Amino acid sequence: MALLAVKEERASNIQKPEHGIWSGEAMVFCPLCKALQTIWIDNGTLMPTRMFIQAGNQIYHDCGSRQPCRLYSGW
Ligand SMILES: [Zn+2]
Repeated sequence: MALLAVKEERASNIQKPEHGIWSGEAMVFCPLCKALQTIWIDNGTLMPTRMFIQAGNQIYHDCGSRQPCRLYSGW
C-alpha cells in the first residue's frame, strides 16, 4: 500500500518552509477525487505532468477540484 510508505510530512504548498524549496519526487493527492500520483518538482516548479496543474505555489488536479492537492514528500 503506497500510502503507508509515505512519510507523515505533508503540505499543500509547494514551498516547504522547513527545508526551503521542494525539489525531487513527491506524491500528490487530490482531496476531491482522492487521486494519488507521483510527480516531480524541480526547485519549486512542477514538472509537466498529466492532469496536474501548478498555480502559484500550489498544485491542482484537472478533475475540477478547487482545493489544492496535498503534497507528500518521500525523502
Ligand atoms: Zn481530483
